[in-house]
Amino acid sequence: MASSDLHKRRTGAVARGVSSVINSYVDRASGGTLTDVDGNEWIDFASGIAVTSVGNSAPRVVAAVREQVERFTHTCFMVAPYELYVSVCETLNALTPGEVEKRSMLVSSGAEAVENAVKIARHATGRTAVVVFDHAYHGRTNLTMALTAKNMPYKHRFGPFAGEVYRVPMSYPLRDGGLSGADAAARALELVASQIGATNVAAVLVEPIQGEGGFVVPAPGFLPALSAWARDAGAVFIADEIQTGFCRTGDWFASSHEGVVPDLMTLAKGIAGGLPLGAVTGRADIMDAVHPGGLGGTYGGNPLACAAALASIETMRELDLVTSARRIDLTLGGRLRDLAAADPRIAEVRGRGAMQAIEITQPGTLTPDPVTTGAVSAECHRRGLLTLTCGTYGNVLRFLPPLVIDDSTLERGLDVLAASLDAVGAP
Ligand SMILES: *Cc1c(COP(=O)(O)O)cnc(C)c1O
Repeated sequence: MASSDLHKRRTGAVARGVSSVINSYVDRASGGTLTDVDGNEWIDFASGIAVTSVGNSAPRVVAAVREQVERFTHTCFMVAPYELYVSVCETLNALTPGEVEKRSMLVSSGAEAVENAVKIARHATGRTAVVVFDHAYHGRTNLTMALTAKNMPYKHRFGPFAGEVYRVPMSYPLRDGGLSGADAAARALELVASQIGATNVAAVLVEPIQGEGGFVVPAPGFLPALSAWARDAGAVFIADEIQTGFCRTGDWFASSHEGVVPDLMTLAKGIAGGLPLGAVTGRADIMDAVHPGGLGGTYGGNPLACAAALASIETMRELDLVTSARRIDLTLGGRLRDLAAADPRIAEVRGRGAMQAIEITQPGTLTPDPVTTGAVSAECHRRGLLTLTCGTYGNVLRFLPPLVIDDSTLERGLDVLAASLDAVGAP
């Protein structure tokens, strides 16, 4: 078994703290399946955590990267600039919500995008406090660990963390008694007023649909209320669309479902078909507040990643992946709701587009059941379906197929899920 040999080598070479969901090693991948080094095929409901929305090795991406890799691989945009970086920024400025004048900067990861958005917001406002939410996930660097909610595995014994980060309750309809979006926002903002003071807030940072925290979809009205409050308070409203962006939720960006226009957006994951790229995009007056030389990094906006981003976005347009995500929503969401109707362990089906999840609890209660969740996920893996779990309580099974997945592969994956739920012991 090639994978088990590789796993032995890995154990002797790779730091234990870097773990993997499965112990099979990938040989090649396409637009809905992975093939491991032993020739087993996996149905991909993970997309490398919402990254390969256009599929793995999408034809346009391969062609664009191949052409660029022969031209030049790196000059550092801060040393010798190139058109691709400018083109990606122009594209992001035009693609993101809001008719205002915008600017962008490019980085190499999501956490780096969030770090820079906070730097820019603090610089532009001259304030320091950053408001974040329960169940939030924003990355693993020192500042973004502080912004992230969950201790294990992200923060445990990695402190001390960056300061001036304040956490308030999220709108989580299943677990907050179905508070309206407006009431959930008021609950959070009262704490902001009493414990921070509105005039000290540099930024309100929120995922329009939470990712690692459990695919929590806030009640309607929550995001608009936060955005309106930030405008009145002179704070920067930052939408972290790293997981939700680029067609994933059935719109180009999840903020648009409620007509919210963020001041700044953080982008990464789906942006470049798997090449490492992140971005901060937003209002020119905020972005341009920073002095020349205040932002940057050696690899930010690497030319190969930029070429891949332009090709990915072109692919999303050409194949109309917004519509694909909505089509996946009908199949995936519909099937999950059917499963939930017959299975009291499934407390809720939620999500938008091709970002859907089931939350698993002790039947008839809200008590999280991470054991069953893990067992169902492991059973899916045994049967060749790559699924991921998430959630503060580890009891959410999430589904993030590539947006180019074909219907029969999607249906086959859902059959495996249904069989796995059965195998783990129906109620
Ligand atoms: C993945 C993720 C990040 C961090 O991105 P990395 O590229 O892993 O650093 C930040 N925010 C959200 C919402 C994410 O899903």
